[in-house]
Formats: sequence, structure tokens, C-alpha cells
Amino acid sequence: MAKILVYNTVTGNMETFWRNENESMPYVWNNTMRVREFRGSSNSPTLWTTRQAMESWNATRQSYGSPIPFRYAFKRIWEGGHGRTSQHYRGVSFDVGQTLSSSQRRRIHTVASDLGVWGYVEPLSMTPTWVHFDRRYGRGACGGTAGYNTLYRGSKGVYVLILQDCLNTLGYSTAGLDGIFGGATERAVYNFQGDYGLARDGVCGCNTWTQITTLVHGNGPSSTTVN
Ligand SMILES: [Zn+2]
Repeated sequence: MAKILVYNTVTGNMETFWRNENESMPYVWNNTMRVREFRGSSNSPTLWTTRQAMESWNATRQSYGSPIPFRYAFKRIWEGGHGRTSQHYRGVSFDVGQTLSSSQRRRIHTVASDLGVWGYVEPLSMTPTWVHFDRRYGRGACGGTAGYNTLYRGSKGVYVLILQDCLNTLGYSTAGLDGIFGGATERAVYNFQGDYGLARDGVCGCNTWTQITTLVHGNGPSSTTVN
């Protein structure tokens, strides 16, 4: 049984679902993405995504009209396997079509690009044997549309889940993993910033994101990691 946290981008609320591995992911059309497919090689008991990402998937899958096999979607940041600030750690990113022909992958790429429902569709020249699309949004804390957004008290969603995951894994308790940047998360950020010589403003911007993701990325869980 997996615990699945979903940031409902329609209502602005965090939601919790419990699903078996063979059940459909929440908000997914017609069982086209099961929990075991979404987790891929991740061993995490807790998974997360957004309703917006699931609906972007639905639109892409319906428009393509045939099954879209995929190998990689969700990973915890401490599991690694992607770049340090990958959208895969947010659970809004998919690497698909590994078992299809290159012409089928080109068609998926065209469908995903033309729909305009994804924040980013990677050029096929960068991913010759798969198609990567993700539902990122906004501006990254370090500039551009890549990387993670600046977070502060009152922020909500899957970027906050990554920050809380990093803080807890490094021993800075956020009093749970809920995707809501409240008082406990703010105190944890203050303490982390103090310990690493960063400006103590309680805001997770470029410098704090860079420091914390570098410490956690690919280094495995710790005794204080929260699920
Ligand atoms: Zn990818």
C-alpha cells in the first residue's frame, strides 16, 4: 500500500490517498497509469505528484490514442538517478516510450508539444531513446524555468515536499511531510541556514536550495527521513 500525496492544483489543497501497486494513480483517466508504473524503480513508501501533472498525462495519453509505456517518473531526491534539481523528484515528470519505435516517440513528442499542457518537453536530440515531459511552472530560484521555485512561509505543493524531505533527512524536523510550509518548516530552514553560513531569512531561495540539494541528492535516506 503506497501513501500518495497529491497537490490539488484546482482547489489548492494537499490530499492523501492510499493505493495498492496495481491500482490507478489518483486523477488518472481509465487506469492508464498504475501506482507501480509511476514509482518505477523507486522504493519509497510515500509518493507525490500534482493533479495538474496527472491531467496533463490524461490529455497526452488520450490524444496519442495508444498505450504509452514508461520507465521513469517518481524518485525521492535522496534516491538520485536524475539531475540535482530534477522535476522527477516533484513527481510531475515522465520519461516515456523506451520500448517504442523512434517514429512512435516522435509522434508522442509532437502530441506532448502541441497540446501545450506540459511546462517542458525535452528536445528529442537530448533524449534519443525516450521522451521527457514535465509539468514545471514559474521561475526557478536560481533563474530560468529549470530548478526549484523560491519557497517561504505559506508556500504549498510538491516543491515544499522536496524541501521538507531534504530538511528531515539532514536532521532538521519539519514535524511531518505535508507539503505545507508552516512554522516548523520555517524554523528548520532558519536552523539549516545558520548551520551552513547562509543568510538567515527563513526563505528557501537559490543559495539554500543549492546547499541543501547538494547535501541530500543521491545520498540515500537517513535515520531521520520521514515518510
Ligand atoms: Zn526525465
